[in-house]
Amino acid sequence: MGQRVLIVDDSRLARATVRKYLVQAGLEVVGEAGNGREAIDMFTQLSPDLVTLDVTMPEIDGLTAFREIRKRDPSAAVILVTSLDQKFIAEEVAHDPRGGFIPKPFSSFDLLKAVRQLLNLDESDDSSVEG
Ligand SMILES: [Mg+2]
Repeated sequence: MGQRVLIVDDSRLARATVRKYLVQAGLEVVGEAGNGREAIDMFTQLSPDLVTLDVTMPEIDGLTAFREIRKRDPSAAVILVTSLDQKFIAEEVAHDPRGGFIPKPFSSFDLLKAVRQLLNLDESDDSSVEG
């Protein structure tokens, strides 16, 4: 896929899992952040194509970070990742054409489905990966 991704989660294990799935799919992980403040700073520095954003985090939570990222770049793809009981999260991103939501716990399939939708990647488009 070759797209640049920033992974945000306060759990190191969760970041490692997301990284594994994305790298297997051919995406380039350009950074990892452990809280919302780091996420906003790293987003500004790196201008990634995609951000995976945990919601429950110290310092600045993921929803606040999402709104800050949106002020900086309305077109960046952002996937919020949180437990299913936080329905208000899903509602906020439902109105954002460049936003996505996946509930925890998630599979590689769940994550990559959301990634493909936002980055307009076709599963059959393997030719670009070969080269
Ligand atoms: Mg968390």
